[in-house]
Amino acid sequence: MYYSNGNYEAFARPKKPEGVDGKSAYIVGAGLASLAAACFLVRDGQMKGERIHILEQSEKSGGACDGANDPTRGYVMRGGREMDNHFECMWDLFRSIPSVETEGVSVLDEYYWLNKEDPNYSLCRATEHRGEDAHTDGKFALSDKAAAEIAKLFMTPDRDLYDKTIDDVFDDEFYKSNFWLYWQTMFAFERWHSALEMKLYLQRYVHHVGGLPDFRALRFTKYNQYDSMILPMVKYLENAGVDFRYGVSVTNVLFDIDRSSGRKAAKKLFYTKDGEEGKIDLTDDDLVFVTNGSCTESSAYGDQEHAPAVAVKNGEGACWDLWRRIAAQDPAFGHPAKFCSDIGRTNWESATVTTLDEKIPDYIRKICKRDPFSGGVVTGGIVTVKDSGWYMSWTVNRQPQFRDQPKGQAIVWIYGLYTDRPGDFVKKAMKDCTGEEICEEWLYHLGVPEDQIHALASASANTVPVMMPYITAFFMPRRAGDRPSVVPKGCGNFAFLGQFADTPRDTVFTTEYSIRTAMEAVYTLLNVDRGVPEVYGSVYDVRCLMDAASKMLDGRKLDDIRLPAPASLAKKAVVKKLSGTVAEDLLKRYKLL
Ligand SMILES: Cc1cc2nc3c(=O)[nH]c(=O)nc-3n(C[C@H](O)[C@H](O)[C@H](O)COP(=O)(O)OP(=O)(O)OC[C@H]3O[C@@H](n4cnc5c(N)ncnc54)[C@H](O)[C@@H]3O)c2cc1C
Repeated sequence: MYYSNGNYEAFARPKKPEGVDGKSAYIVGAGLASLAAACFLVRDGQMKGERIHILEQSEKSGGACDGANDPTRGYVMRGGREMDNHFECMWDLFRSIPSVETEGVSVLDEYYWLNKEDPNYSLCRATEHRGEDAHTDGKFALSDKAAAEIAKLFMTPDRDLYDKTIDDVFDDEFYKSNFWLYWQTMFAFERWHSALEMKLYLQRYVHHVGGLPDFRALRFTKYNQYDSMILPMVKYLENAGVDFRYGVSVTNVLFDIDRSSGRKAAKKLFYTKDGEEGKIDLTDDDLVFVTNGSCTESSAYGDQEHAPAVAVKNGEGACWDLWRRIAAQDPAFGHPAKFCSDIGRTNWESATVTTLDEKIPDYIRKICKRDPFSGGVVTGGIVTVKDSGWYMSWTVNRQPQFRDQPKGQAIVWIYGLYTDRPGDFVKKAMKDCTGEEICEEWLYHLGVPEDQIHALASASANTVPVMMPYITAFFMPRRAGDRPSVVPKGCGNFAFLGQFADTPRDTVFTTEYSIRTAMEAVYTLLNVDRGVPEVYGSVYDVRCLMDAASKMLDGRKLDDIRLPAPASLAKKAVVKKLSGTVAEDLLKRYKLL
């Protein structure tokens, strides 16, 4: 497997890998990473569909990328995906996946056209005082000291950030900035999360810094991601004859490990189905792909009248059990305990509100300044309630979010970062609230008069909360080796997929990361002779760096930044040296001089 960039390899089709007709694939899990792996096996590996077996513990594909009208609860989606035009592996894949809506069109085509015609941006990024615009006004509001801390983190090598938290590298001044408000609520970072992960995000999305304050940087699918992304992939794979096996919980993969050569061969796969234990014997021609770890493992669903009841304690869950059993066999298989041992620090909760009549949409319209029923962009990304005890954000994406959604009903997605703190209207922790109570708290922050809140939450909306105990498990502080490599050293028929497998430079909590690991895994194990598109290289593009610096300084110039005397003298000397050079022209173009 090797990386490439540019059109030469982007449009090239690999030759059929040697020996593929004699190989089979067993893919554990049917989340985005697994489905992508199957798609790459079919498209690029040219493996016959019937030789690809997907073993999924639940009764449905999609994993974290869900979205459904649950017959007992109502509409629910655990998340909504902010996505980027430089999700290189993802768009490489979706250019080949046919749309399920329009014949002759790919998922990429429909996504591209939609976001071209109806670009995303927000007209109100945050509110306070019950529905008033908090006037972040596109500013980052970073002090010189906070900006210097960001610059320092940006330049720090990975190894110096091992096991460090965000709190270890920033102080209070930084947390008061709009930058942190945007950052924390958009990506769900907490102060106790990994400083390394935060740095990787800064580098990965440096080309989007200017688009952060109003979400100009983002793009969205037409419907929820189950309908817009998962369904077309499943159809593509079903048409190719791929074997989907639902209700199969894989309990272990057993390896033959030669300690002297380091060779590790997956030999047996154990599973349970309908309470019965089963086993698959594996040869070197049986390729095994395991999604190790899941951010939605052990999600607990509530409904309008019930709070979600989390049924697991730290570290419990089928995906962790499987990873733990694999990891126990060799240190190259990573350290699951680093990620799944502290639910108190890895949970948050979302809720899907369906508005049932015109009453609530009027309040939405007032804040986002758009018609929720226009069919186009509504809030244009999340609206953060700056002064909310739960640190709540909410969003209304293009309506309808579901193909069968009744006209006049809007789907709203809410999430709260602090699930154990009391609300401001509902004086309870979010985790203890029913759907109706969560809706009440949200309506309070929309500015609904207090005497109308209860009636609206009970009769004008249906709200389904979901508590996700491990939603930010991948953000826990880590060091090299905690996440296993996509293909661990010595493995010829085994790969890890998804958010807890390690691939350089890319950032977790993204659809791209899952798809990238899938592409790398398939290309490595099948020896597909085509480059995997490298992570977009904006961090090495001086234009992006200058633009980001200028935007983060809210338009201040280098001269306006106060530095200690020696640094200030050095800055003056460097600027003088650059006088009359291309570098000076660039600094001027990006408004730093
Ligand atoms: C609330 C939320 C918000 C998000 N926001 C964004 C966003 O804004 N932008 C973005 O790009 N991404 C976002 N994501 C992330 C993205 O959706 C996920 O990273 C991605 O979908 C994960 O896919 P996966 O296949 O790697 O893992 P999963 O979807 O977790 O799939 C794992 C699958 O494996 C199955 N499984 C686990 N253990 C076993 C076992 N032992 N046997 C059999 N099957 C098993 C599970 O049931 C599951 O189906 C968000 C996710 C959530 C939940």
